[in-house]
Amino acid sequence: MSLRSLLDLAAVTETGAIVLGSRVAVDGHAPGYGVRVVTHIHQDHILGLRRSIREASLIAATPLTLDLLEAAGYRIPPSKRLSLPYRVQVSVEGDVLSLRRANHVPGAAEVLVELENGVRVGYTGDFKLPGTEVLSDLDVLVIDATYGLEDWVRPWQEEIDLLLADVVREGLSHGPVYLYGYYGKIEEIMLLLRNQGVDAPFLVNQRVGRSVEVLERHGYRVGDVVVEGTREAVEVKRSGWYIGFRHYSSWRRRRSLPGENGARPVHVLLTGWEFREPFRRLGPRELVVSFSDHADFRQLVSYVEEARPRLLVADSYRGGRAAAYFASYVSKRLGIPAVALPGGGVDGV
Ligand SMILES: [Zn+2]
Repeated sequence: MSLRSLLDLAAVTETGAIVLGSRVAVDGHAPGYGVRVVTHIHQDHILGLRRSIREASLIAATPLTLDLLEAAGYRIPPSKRLSLPYRVQVSVEGDVLSLRRANHVPGAAEVLVELENGVRVGYTGDFKLPGTEVLSDLDVLVIDATYGLEDWVRPWQEEIDLLLADVVREGLSHGPVYLYGYYGKIEEIMLLLRNQGVDAPFLVNQRVGRSVEVLERHGYRVGDVVVEGTREAVEVKRSGWYIGFRHYSSWRRRRSLPGENGARPVHVLLTGWEFREPFRRLGPRELVVSFSDHADFRQLVSYVEEARPRLLVADSYRGGRAAAYFASYVSKRLGIPAVALPGGGVDGV
């Protein structure tokens, strides 16, 4: 089969759906595709989900992701709910679909489809290394290339868990610590801190509180969590020893947020767009920590070198010019034909 005809079997549409074969659409709505897969709960991966819930026959995701979607207000009829634990295969009219573990936010998955005609296509979803299974022996691999520019490297990425836990411990020795990040990343950081032995109570809003309940139901141990507005929250605040989590968007309002009974909290912003150093002080009580749940450029290259698909598709719907650059890098430097979709030029195809 020619490389060009492979592009008919795996692509990224203008509306951000990753289509694998003619039956499976991932992370965006594609009319006429019977199965909609959700790799994880981030906003740019649940595009058109309400329409897919109405029109598709099945909504497939890991059991945790399905429950997190329900907690976020998506009602999926039981007859359309396809709960797929990692590595369990399901046949969809002759195509075989399965999910693989991705290290990103809790519940995140990669998607593998073995088509009826023997062609193997897959999509990484969002991921970072280590902890993500490399999809190998594929004819077409669609990859998330958010950090696809050569300068976008975080050499400390593999040690950042330890560094972040140190920053939080140091802050806690003076008073409360507030961490600012996106939903999904917040839950990931909670688990990371517990893993590192940080046991201060977590203070969260109601939405994160609901996600924590789902995580606990799925066997994750998040420990002591109190929800803003409850009596427990008042007590925890009075103690001055806790870690508060806030959405990224409230970072710019951090100085005008209500005081903490005279305590002066340390504010920590978590961002993937910091490439100079692992953390940077903005002031005595404010820091930016370079923490991402996406592969940086080095990790993207190492994934593709190991996977060695016949054709690589970089997702430019989400990755923009970085995906276009990454596709041309892969084709010129790794010798693997690559294209950025939608809208990209075809390099080496
Ligand atoms: Zn994501």
